[in-house]
Amino acid sequence: MKNKELSDKYCSRFVAEGLIKSALCASTLGFALSLISAIVSLSTGTKLIWLSALLFLAADAVGIPLFYYAKFRPKTMQMANRLDKSGLQERVVTMLELADEQTTLAEMQRSDTEKQLEASNPKRVKIIIPVSQIVWLLATALVSLSLNVFAAFYSGCRHDWGDWIVTQPATCVSAGQEVRFCKKEPSHFEKRPIAVNDAHDWADWAVSVPAKADEYGEETRICKNCSDHIERRKIFPSGSEGLHFSETSTYISANKPVTGYAVSKGSALASEIYIPAVFNEKPVVSIAFSGFENSRQLESLHLPEGLIFIDVRAFANCISLKSVTIPSSVTLLHCDSFRYCESLESVVIEDARQTVIIYQTAFAYCKNLKSITLPENVYLYDDAFEGCTALSDIYYNGSEKQWSEIAANCGEELSSVTVHFSKESSAPQKSESLFSVAALLSKRKSF
Ligand SMILES: [Zn+2]
Ligand SMILES: [Zn+2]
Repeated sequence: MKNKELSDKYCSRFVAEGLIKSALCASTLGFALSLISAIVSLSTGTKLIWLSALLFLAADAVGIPLFYYAKFRPKTMQMANRLDKSGLQERVVTMLELADEQTTLAEMQRSDTEKQLEASNPKRVKIIIPVSQIVWLLATALVSLSLNVFAAFYSGCRHDWGDWIVTQPATCVSAGQEVRFCKKEPSHFEKRPIAVNDAHDWADWAVSVPAKADEYGEETRICKNCSDHIERRKIFPSGSEGLHFSETSTYISANKPVTGYAVSKGSALASEIYIPAVFNEKPVVSIAFSGFENSRQLESLHLPEGLIFIDVRAFANCISLKSVTIPSSVTLLHCDSFRYCESLESVVIEDARQTVIIYQTAFAYCKNLKSITLPENVYLYDDAFEGCTALSDIYYNGSEKQWSEIAANCGEELSSVTVHFSKESSAPQKSESLFSVAALLSKRKSF
C-alpha cells in the first residue's frame, strides 16, 4: 500500500475532521477572549465591541492552523485504525506493520487490503467531533455574545461632562437652552432648557414726569420683548437752574473717601436755591470753596441730605439769607462758611450720629443770628460765633454735662447765651456716619 492511495482516497475526510476540531477550539478561544473584552468594557465604561470582534477573528485566524498542526493533523496510524474500525478488521494496520516484508503472505495481505480499500466507500469513515468540544464552544459563545451585546447597549461612556454652554439665552418671554459635551467623546452631549427669567431687553430710560427743582420726577423704561414689562424710577429733584457742578471727593471720616460733586452758584440767581442731592448719577457731597459767596439775592436755601462738606466761605456775605437748615449728613462747616450773613436769624444743624465740626468764624458776624440748634455730637472751634451779637438761644440736643465740655473750647464767646438742653444727661455717642452713598442712590427705586 501505498500510503499515497490511502491519503488520496480517505485523507481528505480526516483532514476535514482535523480542521473542524481546530476551528471549534480556536473559536472557543476567540469567544473566551471577547468575553474578557466585554468584562473590561463593562468595568471601565468604554465601548470595546470592535475589540471583541477583532479578538474573535484573530483567535480563529491564528488558532485554526496552530491547533491543526499541533494537535489535530491526522497521522497515518490513527487513520489506519479508523479505517479498520469502519469494517476492515485490522487489515490496514497489519498492512502497515508488514509494509517492509516481501513474503508471499505479506504480498497477499497487501493485495487483499488494497482491493478492500478500493471497493469501499470513503464515506463509511465517519467524521467524529467530540461532544465536549461542541458544548464548550456553545457555552463560551452564549456567555460571550450576551455579555458583549449587553456591554454594547448599556456600558456606554461614563461621561466626563464639561461646563454647560448657553446656546440660546433665556429671555423674559422665552426659554433658552444650554448644552454640555463629554470630554471623553465629543459626540456625546446633553441639552437642558433655561427657564424664562428676568433678562429684559430694556429700551433706554425715558422721562415720563420731569423733575423740578425741589420735586422728584419719574422716568420709565419698557422691555423690548414685551411691553408689559415696565420699570419706573425716580428722578431726583434737579435743583435750581444754573448751578455749577465739578467732580470732587471728600471724606466722611478719615478713611472713607466719597466721590461726587461739589456745587457752586454758576449762573443761578434765584432768591430761593435748591441744591440737588444727586447730579449725573453721583451724590452732591460738598459746597465748593466760595461756592455761593456774595449771593446777595439769596434768601432761602435748601441743602440736600447727603451733603458732607461745606467749604471755606461757601455762603459768606449772603446778606439776604434768613435761615438755614444743615442736613444731618454734614460733618464739617469750614472757616467763614456763613460769615457776614447779616440777615441770618436762625440756624438748625440736624442731629446726626457723626460729630459735626464747626470751624473758626463759620458764623462770624451774623449779627442778626438769634438762635442756633446744635446736634448732640458737635465740636465748636473758638470764634465760630464771633461777633454774633444777637445770639440769645442755643438749643443743644444733649445734656448740660456734654455742653460744658463743648463750650469749654469757646472761651467767653457763648457765656451770655441761654442754652436749652434736650436731655438731662447722656453719655456722648460714638462718632459714626450713617450716611452712605449707596443708600442714597438706592432710595430712588423705593417709589
Ligand atoms: Zn461620553
Ligand atoms: Zn421683559
